[in-house]
Amino acid sequence: MLENISERLQNALRFITRQAYVSDKEVAEYLREIQRALIMGDVDVRLVSQLTEDIKKGLKEAGEEYGISLKDRITYLTYQGLIRILGGEKKELRIIPNQLNVFIFMGIQGSGKTTTVGKVAYYLKNRNRKVGVIAGDVFRPGAVDQLKQLLKDEVPLYSDASKKTSVEVIRGGVEWARRLGLEIVLVDTAGRHRTEETLMEEMAQIISAVNPTATILVVDAMIGQQARVQAEAFNKVAKVGYVIVTKLDGSAKGGGALSAIASVGAPIIFIGVGEGIEEIEEFDPVKFVSRLLGKPDLESIIARVQKMSREEKIRAQRMARGRFTIEEFVQQLESARKMGGVQTILSSLPGGRRLSKKDMEEFFIKVKKWRAIVNSMNTEEREDVGIMDSSRVRRVARGSGTSEKDVRELIKQYLVAKKTIKKISKGALRDISRLRP
Ligand code: GDP
Ligand code: MG
Repeated sequence: MLENISERLQNALRFITRQAYVSDKEVAEYLREIQRALIMGDVDVRLVSQLTEDIKKGLKEAGEEYGISLKDRITYLTYQGLIRILGGEKKELRIIPNQLNVFIFMGIQGSGKTTTVGKVAYYLKNRNRKVGVIAGDVFRPGAVDQLKQLLKDEVPLYSDASKKTSVEVIRGGVEWARRLGLEIVLVDTAGRHRTEETLMEEMAQIISAVNPTATILVVDAMIGQQARVQAEAFNKVAKVGYVIVTKLDGSAKGGGALSAIASVGAPIIFIGVGEGIEEIEEFDPVKFVSRLLGKPDLESIIARVQKMSREEKIRAQRMARGRFTIEEFVQQLESARKMGGVQTILSSLPGGRRLSKKDMEEFFIKVKKWRAIVNSMNTEEREDVGIMDSSRVRRVARGSGTSEKDVRELIKQYLVAKKTIKKISKGALRDISRLRP
């Protein structure tokens, strides 16, 4: 299903995850590739640029959160964006208890209506629903036979060759369904008409004659983003309750059809993925995107990003108030290196200024030393550096293979940074995560 699109999206993600270091350049290339993949899949250009804008925005907002790898975040944002494009939360066919639910299938000829009526009937029957079908297409001679073949006596079928109009047949069928005490009746209708206008007209007549629980629009995935126009046209005559997109197995434009439908706000409940009676699937954007991106580990990435985001928010708030331990101070410096937010902290150090690349490198060598020092401190000392007297300083220096001067410098830098950040946080800049170099 949608192999081309899927392959391209997966290649783009692989390209990102393979990079040793991801800069703006790689991100831009990644986004271009995502755009190409989606446009090739006939997704509306506006939706595509919305998606890439959302990813860019998401990356920018998260720019200085520490600890989450940029690669994970890109995957996460892409995943979320695609789910949004496909309509978000999974929607279900609502069946009202203790009454007959009448669902009228609409759609142009060849879209897959009759086949889909059969599939949905099987689907419901297999879930122990009392379901029947009305053959409401009186125009096509073979329509009743087609349904008979599909349903094979496993689902009751109503047809009436003596009646001339669809409206009459369907009216009779609804009475039949009531008599049988069915919960659900699915109504197949004709798609073949001289003009589209007469099709729409007839649909309007059927709707007012039987007042269905909902209509179900059947759309062929092959038409790609044109699905939007079709959904809007049908919506004018009869409010589209649900949509089923068929032939996703064979179409490269499936993504275009699904996103176009979702963008008009019509809930897609099923997708058709083959000619067989069982080849229908509930449409779940989340699962669909997971499959599209081919990432079985997607859920763990999502969970990781969400958990980290929560922890980081708390940490950022503590940082912002200048409430951080010496260990967190060093930790921030370490992760700042990866995230590029280091200037913020550096500029709060004595003599803080913009540093050259060489200065930065020297600085990070120092941070390595500081890490060793912190590792040699005990919990008590990490919690409160105020207790660091000269004998403790000596012990820590020896333990970490550094000098007493190094230990004193770290403590001094930490205290100054804390004080400065506290001061800043009382001013306009309350959130350290917003501070930029
Ligand atoms: P209708 O004119 O709207 O009633 O369309 P039909 O149900 O007669 O289907 C038209 C053609 O599309 C038939 O050959 C079906 O077998 C085929 N078809 C329907 N749904 C699917 C699907 O999900 N996948 C594939 N590959 N073919 C389908
Ligand atoms: Mg048909």
